[in-house]
Amino acid sequence: MANPFKEGLKQLERAAKHLEDINPGVLERLRSPMREVHISIPVRMDDGSLRTFPGYRVQYDDSRGPFKGGIRFHPDANIHEVRALAFWMTFKCATVGIPYGGGKGGVQVDPKKLSERELEVLSRGWARAMSNVIGPDIDIPAPDVYTNPKIMGWMVDEFSQAVGKWSPGVITGKPISIGGSQGRGQATAQGGIYVAQELLKHLKIKKPSVIIQGFGNAGSVYAELASDLGWKVIGLSDSRGAIVNTKGIDIAKVSKHKLQTGSVVGFPGSVEMDNEKLLLQACDILVPAALEGVITKTNAGRIKAKAILELANGPTVPEADDKLFKKGIIVVPDILANAGGVTVSYFEWVQNNMNYYWTETEVLDRLKPIMVSAFNDVWMAATSAGVDLRTGAYIHATRRIAEAMVDRGRV
Ligand code: NAD
Repeated sequence: MANPFKEGLKQLERAAKHLEDINPGVLERLRSPMREVHISIPVRMDDGSLRTFPGYRVQYDDSRGPFKGGIRFHPDANIHEVRALAFWMTFKCATVGIPYGGGKGGVQVDPKKLSERELEVLSRGWARAMSNVIGPDIDIPAPDVYTNPKIMGWMVDEFSQAVGKWSPGVITGKPISIGGSQGRGQATAQGGIYVAQELLKHLKIKKPSVIIQGFGNAGSVYAELASDLGWKVIGLSDSRGAIVNTKGIDIAKVSKHKLQTGSVVGFPGSVEMDNEKLLLQACDILVPAALEGVITKTNAGRIKAKAILELANGPTVPEADDKLFKKGIIVVPDILANAGGVTVSYFEWVQNNMNYYWTETEVLDRLKPIMVSAFNDVWMAATSAGVDLRTGAYIHATRRIAEAMVDRGRV
């Protein structure tokens, strides 16, 4: 997708038609980010040469609280993508009602081509350069695609050195030993499961068949949790290709296979397929959990799933949404379906601020009611306006943001 931010704005404009009663200044403010920071990160490579990598932080809106959002390391990362992701974070935090605004960061790099030392220098470089614009009460980053708790550990250390005090609340998704939260690793997938369970009540399906695109942090844990519930995972993919087995894939075994071979492809007993074709297989729930822009106007008409649950950010383009809605395929939007991750990030920050830590059970017990009530709020907003769930989520979230903007006298 050339410019995912433009797609994001189209989603907001659809909701705007149902928000004629709110102050028009709210929508005007939400059409552009409050601040964007561009940096160039120098890294002394192992061969002695010096390279620079472009880095970004977009601080979209902080009406409801500090900016919040992950940092993506990817060769295609660019300002348009980071801006789109920051935009989505603003609405995601409002959808689930946690007291944050939205932000996002990125570095244009292929982290697989860096040594461990080079990756550490790059990560520390990002945190140092951003140390005057982020902070526990200002802007709180976290992991995203190709970043992880180890990288967050380097970043929180670098930030803390820059400001001269230990500041665990500046970053979430940290290792447990330095203030990470129990349950963070499974939070995104677990939130997606809670939401799917609510949806299944409406669909009147007990044990759905599931296809998952992407077998990383979010997708692989979703596969594990789904199979623990007795749901049948019949298709999986990663960047190397897809596999299908309509009898069900053994998730523990495929995880081991991926660990040994680097991919789900070649898993014994499964049929290989290209990634695009996987999305077109019949199933109850299709879970995109890789990158944005994969469900397009070209393939939407051929999708046979009953519902799509967006664990990835921005996997469906607006034109595809229209086709899916007409076909009666329910799309549970990213800003609801994958909000479990940022919700447990919020719990991590709360624990850092209190310096008092919860058990995994306490974390998950707090996550469930938030996800369930967000689903029901979005369902209500969508059905009462006669629109799809994405537009319903934007209506619901924008009303919450509008309230904060008005109460702060920003509009
Ligand atoms: P990840 O890097 O751990 O995993 C991405 C997976 O997608 C990998 O398995 C990769 O092989 C696969 N992939 C890449 N290109 C593909 C393609 N063309 N076809 C099929 N698979 C492909 O990243 P992640 O953290 O799991 O994030 C995935 C998505 O979920 C992103 O959109 C991210 O923004 C979103 N998300 C993640 C979290 C989280 O907590 N991890 C939270 C909210 C949203």
